[in-house]
Amino acid sequence: MEVERIYFDMDDVLVDFTGAVRDQCGLEIKGENAVSDDILFESIRILGDFYQRAKPIPGSLELFTSLRKRYGDRVEILTAVPKPSRNLPKLGDDKVAWVGRYLGDSVRVNIVLRREKPSYVGGKGSVLIDDSIGNIRAWEDAGGTGILFTDPASARSILDSLGIRFDGTT
Ligand SMILES: [Mg+2]
Repeated sequence: MEVERIYFDMDDVLVDFTGAVRDQCGLEIKGENAVSDDILFESIRILGDFYQRAKPIPGSLELFTSLRKRYGDRVEILTAVPKPSRNLPKLGDDKVAWVGRYLGDSVRVNIVLRREKPSYVGGKGSVLIDDSIGNIRAWEDAGGTGILFTDPASARSILDSLGIRFDGTT
């Protein structure tokens, strides 16, 4: 397929967000012990610099980098921050610093509210890699190509099946 843009979500796609919340906050955000967003965001706010201690998901940086080698600046980040009422005004800067540290300062980081993600669809060639089924459905409803992320190997094979090639593949 003709790629116009490939957008990567951050939390639980590039960043091991679930693991960082567990390690830093002692909280679960998935499964039967999952805490509410109120508790989660309050904990992150108290900690500060949350992303500075958050680790990448193994294999995800390599996935991103191999797509960048092939598609260059058409590969970007599209990540959401909590609405202003959550009182986390520095979280966006924290995310940009994480991308700079692990992927380099030249990578464009688009920071939006969650509901704004579909406004980045320019057509079928706009690809979103995201672990949220809600985000993927909204993206596809807007006419884009969504890839529901579970792990880097699965994402690679879905990309491959769509004809999205990597550096070193034909
Ligand atoms: Mg996510």
